[in-house]
Amino acid sequence: MLPPLRVAYFTMEIALRSDIPTYAGGLGVLAGDLMHSCADLKVAAACITICWQHGYMRQALRPDGTQSYEDIRWVPAEHLQKLPARVTVEVEGRTVHVGVWEARSGNPKSGVPVYFLDTNLEENAPEDRAITNHLYGGDQAMRIKQEIILGIGGVRMLRALGYEEIGTYHMNEGHSAFLTLELLKERGFKDEDVRPSCAFTTHTPVKAGHDVFPYDLAWKVVGSMLPWHIKSLAGEDALSMTQLAMNLSRYTCGVSQVHGHVARSMLGNQAIDAITNGVHHVEWASSEMAALFDREIPGWREDPQLLEAKSRDLQDEELWSAHQKAKERLIALVNRVAPVPFDAHTLTIVSARRVVPYKRPELLYTDIQRLREVAGGKLQIIHAGNAHPDDRFSQEVIMRMIERSRELKDSVRICYLPNYNPDLAKVLVAGADVWLNTPMRLHEASGTSGMKACVNGVLNLSTLDGWWIEGYARDHESGWRIGPMAQALDAEDTRRIDAEDLYTQLQYEVIPEYQYPDRVRWIRRMKRAIGLMGYFSSHRCVREYLERAWKN
Ligand SMILES: *Cc1c(COP(=O)(O)O)cnc(C)c1O
Repeated sequence: MLPPLRVAYFTMEIALRSDIPTYAGGLGVLAGDLMHSCADLKVAAACITICWQHGYMRQALRPDGTQSYEDIRWVPAEHLQKLPARVTVEVEGRTVHVGVWEARSGNPKSGVPVYFLDTNLEENAPEDRAITNHLYGGDQAMRIKQEIILGIGGVRMLRALGYEEIGTYHMNEGHSAFLTLELLKERGFKDEDVRPSCAFTTHTPVKAGHDVFPYDLAWKVVGSMLPWHIKSLAGEDALSMTQLAMNLSRYTCGVSQVHGHVARSMLGNQAIDAITNGVHHVEWASSEMAALFDREIPGWREDPQLLEAKSRDLQDEELWSAHQKAKERLIALVNRVAPVPFDAHTLTIVSARRVVPYKRPELLYTDIQRLREVAGGKLQIIHAGNAHPDDRFSQEVIMRMIERSRELKDSVRICYLPNYNPDLAKVLVAGADVWLNTPMRLHEASGTSGMKACVNGVLNLSTLDGWWIEGYARDHESGWRIGPMAQALDAEDTRRIDAEDLYTQLQYEVIPEYQYPDRVRWIRRMKRAIGLMGYFSSHRCVREYLERAWKN
């Protein structure tokens, strides 16, 4: 038997290290950062996830702007440690064997263990070996099978590994909600005996983002693991993983304060709390910035709050020079692919994120003539972002971006970098001057890339949504907001207002401050941005989870 766990953290994806590609995007990056903080803070935690053969896919861009995606070949045995434990689960009435691999965050022996469940075993039928093939791939039946492995297989695996006492089973998104079915079975099908052990974080402010399965399909795939009262737990008409998770959790939260409001009204549950996401301050600081903090703010690695107290004492020249080195690295990377060379002395805006409509990736290009006037040789722009491989919207956006980069090359340099992933993100969030984010209000649950920019002294320029409402409110000097707080009634009106404000901010605030002699005001803002990391670190986030979600 192993020592008690304060929390078993279940997540469909995790970006633990860049050589383990079992993630797709922000959700996995967040899980990785939280586990790193758990390791640092010596929280007795373990993480349950899946050993995806194909998680992250590599994006390539052709010169005409069309994209292709290719699977990354990786061999788990070269990156993870195989453990002997085995469990079985029932899928469509068949017995499926589940194996497990381990990696740790932090110390390889004493750090937080991450268990990767795997059905790619010889004793399984080919169709069942394929269950852990593709993260978010396949049809609804496949998704249910994957969620059986994660939830039911995950709890059984914890038992097989020797974990008996677990304070909280945490569901990071609804994907792992079937863990409640195994707990119900273990505890005599008494909801009131399961609920005190479970907590749930919802991440998705749009209805379509939640897993909902027809009951006939769920019966066929999950079978007798569905309890008789499933409809009272997961919804009358269809099985909602969010409802199931929420109804069997003692604690549910959203991932920013504004997302808490959205989740309360969307899910009709006034008890939903909010814990704003955070990022791991050491993971995301450039080596130059980390070296500067090591010299000037000793102890920042253990206690990121020191950044808030002490960032204002940093020397202007040293801070600027650490930033410039990170920027030069980014510019060198850009210049391997850019059609016109970028330079390290021009104001550089980066906008990198998944290409989806609500993030309005083309807001900056609403009025090309206006952009030309505002930019006039004083601006260079870097974009990056992947999309679902067969997403038409993103194909067209990226093609237009490439076209525009040619059309505008005399007044503003634009480059689209392929293959946005955490390694590239590290270079981007450190080397930008300005981090641009333009989501439609109330659509961004939190966003975390802007926090990564902060620790590097990079200034956010963003609409007020998700975490930035809180970041901007904490310190107006740490960046700029785009548009008003409130959403206009009509999306097109809002878009026009936001675009106009974006140009105005650039023309009268951002560009002049960057060009001001010695950049006094700019560098002061950089210190303020670094100061925000005192709050928006995953250390603070984990402490809030400990106090509210993982208490006992
Ligand atoms: C941090 C990160 C994200 C999440 O950032 P957003 O602000 O939500 O866009 C997504 N993808 C990668 C590769 C990241 O590093």
